[in-house]
Amino acid sequence: MRKIEIVENSLIAPGIFSLIFDRKFDFIPGQVIKLTSDASIPPRMYSIASGMDEPIVRIIYDLKPEGLLTNALKTLKKGDSIEVSEPFGNFICKSASAWWIAIGTGIAPFYSMFRSGSCEDITLLHGARQKEFFLFSEELAASLGNNYIPCCSGDKMPNTFNGRVTDYIKSLVELPAGATYYLCGSAEMVVEMRDLLISKGVRFDAIVAEIYF
Ligand SMILES: Cc1cc2nc3c(=O)[nH]c(=O)nc-3n(C[C@H](O)[C@H](O)[C@H](O)COP(=O)(O)OP(=O)(O)OC[C@H]3O[C@@H](n4cnc5c(N)ncnc54)[C@H](O)[C@@H]3O)c2cc1C
Repeated sequence: MRKIEIVENSLIAPGIFSLIFDRKFDFIPGQVIKLTSDASIPPRMYSIASGMDEPIVRIIYDLKPEGLLTNALKTLKKGDSIEVSEPFGNFICKSASAWWIAIGTGIAPFYSMFRSGSCEDITLLHGARQKEFFLFSEELAASLGNNYIPCCSGDKMPNTFNGRVTDYIKSLVELPAGATYYLCGSAEMVVEMRDLLISKGVRFDAIVAEIYF
């Protein structure tokens, strides 16, 4: 673990913070770091949510009710220090044709891949409860066009599928052959989506998952 100074720690949506520090290491988009605010709290894992060539590293964290680390992190300011591990992990987009499926802060590794130009033929299914939780959606929609598919399970929004990401997949008659499906978010979503994809004929080895537990 190395000590790193925070450059910015700001609220970007209700209960969701973006924490930024200067990049001191190389990483592969999709990787995670472990971090903590001080030695009394065991480090937790966070996906990197910035491009591999950017001068900064960003992570996005969801404030957990009574969460030990996230409640400590939210009090930190520019100039305060955190302890950060080397990047690691295998949630890496290796397929030329990919479906990225994220809910909540699970958008982080895909945003890192997107900002790094990691994949060519991408469809991004992005799930959230309300408009304000679609992090980075303007930038993603502007670049991915019709291949950016926001799925809102709460509010009704224009140009948005009304329902969960799993409902969207259920609504499709056929899924494209040859794509690899990358899933990131809660265990509930990942397990339900995995079963659904398999029931629709996707091979088990064409599904890659990162679970935020
Ligand atoms: C590979 C990976 C990547 C991840 N990436 C991200 C990311 O990019 N962004 C992100 O926000 N999160 C991410 N996570 C989750 C993150 O690592 C933390 O688990 C999360 O931030 C909660 O940490 P915390 O210390 O605040 O909460 P904790 O103190 O660990 O508590 C978590 C929740 O459990 C409850 N709880 C704690 N102890 C008990 C108990 N004994 N009984 C009942 N309930 C209890 C708390 O109230 C809280 O709601 C990732 C996890 C993994 C595994």
